[in-house]
Amino acid sequence: MAAEHRFALQVIIPSHLVGQVQSKLAYVDEAIEAAQIAPDGDSVQLQLRSSLSAKVLSALEAKVQQVVADMASGALPPKVEILEDHMARPVPYATDPMPELLARAEVSREHTGIYSLGPLVTRLIEVFERYFVRLAAEFEAAPQRFPTLISAEKLDRVKYFRAFPHSLTFATHLREDLHVINDFAEHTHYEETGLNAPPEAFSKIQALLSPAVCYHYYFALADRPLPGGQLTATAVGHCFRYESSNLNTLERLWDFTMREIIFVGPADFVLENRERGRQKVAAYLEQIGLAYLVESANDPFFVGEFRKQAAFQNAFQLKYEIRARLPFKDSSLAVGSYNYHQDFFGRHLNITLPDGKPAHTGCVAFGLERLAYAFLSQYGLEPAAWPALVREALHG
Ligand code: ATP
Ligand code: ZN
Repeated sequence: MAAEHRFALQVIIPSHLVGQVQSKLAYVDEAIEAAQIAPDGDSVQLQLRSSLSAKVLSALEAKVQQVVADMASGALPPKVEILEDHMARPVPYATDPMPELLARAEVSREHTGIYSLGPLVTRLIEVFERYFVRLAAEFEAAPQRFPTLISAEKLDRVKYFRAFPHSLTFATHLREDLHVINDFAEHTHYEETGLNAPPEAFSKIQALLSPAVCYHYYFALADRPLPGGQLTATAVGHCFRYESSNLNTLERLWDFTMREIIFVGPADFVLENRERGRQKVAAYLEQIGLAYLVESANDPFFVGEFRKQAAFQNAFQLKYEIRARLPFKDSSLAVGSYNYHQDFFGRHLNITLPDGKPAHTGCVAFGLERLAYAFLSQYGLEPAAWPALVREALHG
């Protein structure tokens, strides 16, 4: 039987961290179905999947206190830098588009976080994609295609498992063993929360489902001098981030698509291109009438790495997000990001510049489903009400 549990926090969560701590609480214990931090950050309310004994509950509470302490104690408010603010741009729509998208079969839910998209949303994404391909051409970016799977060995090399363990999605297969395969074929069914096959039937993990696009490019360039000393590339690909109970409508998907433009070279080459990209994209977002802002941000590192890494990203201006307004809930959603990784990938993957130093990298990345969802939240599902540029581009 489901139960609720509310308790006071030993460390008060400052307001700038409430959202980020809350999203981590989904990963604290399988018994937690949802967690809500009080607006002043001093208590938390848990919805539990079943009622727990006092002993189990106090162990769970200790884990929550630990996460809050690790993420929030002594955390200084980040220096929020706003590079563009067009949040007040007037938009005609203020309703949640999701019920109508579902009713029109423009969005079909296959499983939590896994959705199929219908013709209108698909065409809208194609409009954005045609723009991104043109934008990439202005940078003379080389087109690339990357696999959906990604090497576990390579992800380990770039310390991914330390930074984002909670959102990984693993690819496995049955062990090469006649008994295991026969047994699986005869007995496996989907039961309540998943397949009933025993964990020993599965192989060790060699590959995962890719969490980002640009990593593949850095892996392809590893262990050699960077050809020509600088490179620009572009690709679109499926990305996978397991976001637990945070998975929600088209806002937070398990399986989504990202278009990236990727820069590799000396620091000034990467930073200048990231900035040029931002200015070109700003002109486009104005043409399509999007209400948004661009502000400094950090990646969703897991608890152990969170404080140090987030502060580092903030101090060195490594990440800016394009946050589009969601008028129906008076909030915003990151639809894209401008990233600079310094020489992190160059060092760990041994990608060298002509002077022998490690290459720097950066990317401009867009979440295509989110961009479509934010646009539809602001303009609705009737193309007649859309800005002319988008309406006219719909049919190619
Ligand atoms: P980095 O270069 O720092 O690794 P990245 O290239 O992985 O960054 P992110 O900023 O992490 O890029 O993600 C880019 C965009 O992908 C986000 O702005 C968002 O639009 C989209 N995105 C990320 N996670 C999800 C998700 N769970 N569901 C839908 N879209 C997502
Ligand atoms: Zn990237």
